[in-house]
Parts: sequence; structure tokens; C-alpha cells
Amino acid sequence: MCRHLVCLGPARTVASAATHGRHALARQAWAPQQMRGGGTINADGFGACWWASDGPPGVGQHRTTLPIWSDPALGRAVAGDGADAGEGDGPAVRGALEQIRATAILAAVRSATAGMAVSAQACAPFTDGRWAFSHNGVVRGWPGSVAGLAAEIPAAEAMRSEAATDSVFLWQLFRARIAAGLDAADAAATLVQDVEARAPGSRLNLLATDGERVVGTAWRHSLWVHDMPDELWIASEPTTDAGWSEVDDGALVDARIGHVRSEPISMAATSR
Ligand code: GLN
Repeated sequence: MCRHLVCLGPARTVASAATHGRHALARQAWAPQQMRGGGTINADGFGACWWASDGPPGVGQHRTTLPIWSDPALGRAVAGDGADAGEGDGPAVRGALEQIRATAILAAVRSATAGMAVSAQACAPFTDGRWAFSHNGVVRGWPGSVAGLAAEIPAAEAMRSEAATDSVFLWQLFRARIAAGLDAADAAATLVQDVEARAPGSRLNLLATDGERVVGTAWRHSLWVHDMPDELWIASEPTTDAGWSEVDDGALVDARIGHVRSEPISMAATSR
């Protein structure tokens, strides 16, 4: 299954969100520690989106089917040659994501579920307007098991589907629920409830941010929070050695810098 993270805080390069820490996302791509039987390597792509600390407003996005360790946008250090771009004789050459600084970043590495499309458009994060979204896991029996939920998605949105994957479908439902007036936390929680009811045993770790608030679910996959006074990381696996706490399985996290709330997602009543 994929690995993903959000970091909010002082401006940092987009590349550093993926490479910071002994167990950075770039390492989790080839040496994940908590895949819970959901695959062994995340080599089917890398994506990131960010809210830049300067420049035009809006969300920036980068997605590729390259494995993260081969993506030149991250610069040479991610390839493990130990080289910091700029060393040596030539002029400093930086990967594009080493030059963009942002106060909010969502990044993900992908391990495509068998039978699902491999394309840049199938890589998280998915973005539209205010929200960016990622999914770790799998919808059991997709697409038939959850086809009944498709009616919620406006036809024109469904026709613009970026890729034929369970994750894109979850993103379309999340977006449709927000457009229908649901709060993001309710949209995520009801999505887990409704998909689990139709496709029991699904792995539904959702992660969404609008650049200031993060909503995440832990549903049969690992999820960790590092809550600092001026910085917040939420990730599939801790990227550094200390300061992380694990989110209970079956819980929803609703967080901003300095404020993290976690509560169980009830399966008592589904929204429809
Ligand atoms: N099932 C999703 C996909 O194929 C997510 C994959 C994952 O978490 N490994 O894109």
C-alpha cells in the first residue's frame, strides 16, 4: 500500500518533506516498516502538492510514475549517492522541488493495487480548489462493491475522472460530499463508514488537507502524528526517531498546528 504524509509549519522545501528524517518518505518507498501485509515496495509513483510560502496563491502539484528515488525533481540526494547538488566542480543544480518552499505539503508514494491504472494521474495527491487528498489502502471488490455510491458524483465530474482507481473514486466522493455541504471531517468519516459497509475489510487511510487543517483516518493501516508547537506532521510511518504517537486504528484525526483531535469512527450508523 502506499505511504503518505502531510507536514504543516515553517516554510521548508517540498523536497525536504519527502527526504527529511532517517525514515523519510523517500526511504519508506523502498523500505517501509508498517505495510501490514499490503505490499512490500512503493515504486509506482510519487506525488506532492504544496501551498507555497511566496508566489501566486493556489496549490502547486507534481506527480510522476517514476519511483521517488529516481525522480530528478527531488535532486540528487534522494538517489542515495550522498551528493548534495552543488558539490563538485559545476554550478549548483537543484531539483525543482528543492527550490519551492511551502508551509503545507502533502506527499505520497504509490504501490498500485493489482489491476489498477499506473499513470501520473493515478498518483496522489488529488487536488481541486481548496482540498488535496490521498488514500493508503484498497477498496475490496472495487468497482462493483461500491458502485451504488457513484450516483453521488455529478456526471461531469465522473466523466473527468483522472484514473480508474479506487483512490480516485474515494477522492471524487470526498469532494462531492464537501460540495454537498459536509464538513471535511464528516466527509471522511462517512466515507469510511459507507465504503466499509459495502466493501468490508477495505483499508481506508484517507489523508486530506486544505493547507491549514488536516483530516486523516486510520482504517487498517498505520498512521502517526508528530505534534510540535509550531509544526505538525501526520504520516503513515514516523519519519524521525522521536516525538510521534500512533493514531488508534479505526480513528479519525482532525488537526491544525497546536491542536490535534482524534476520535473513533463509529460503524453504528452509516450515513445512508
Ligand atoms: N488502491 C490504491 C491505488 O492503487 C492505493 C494503493 C495503495 O495504497 N497502495 O492507487
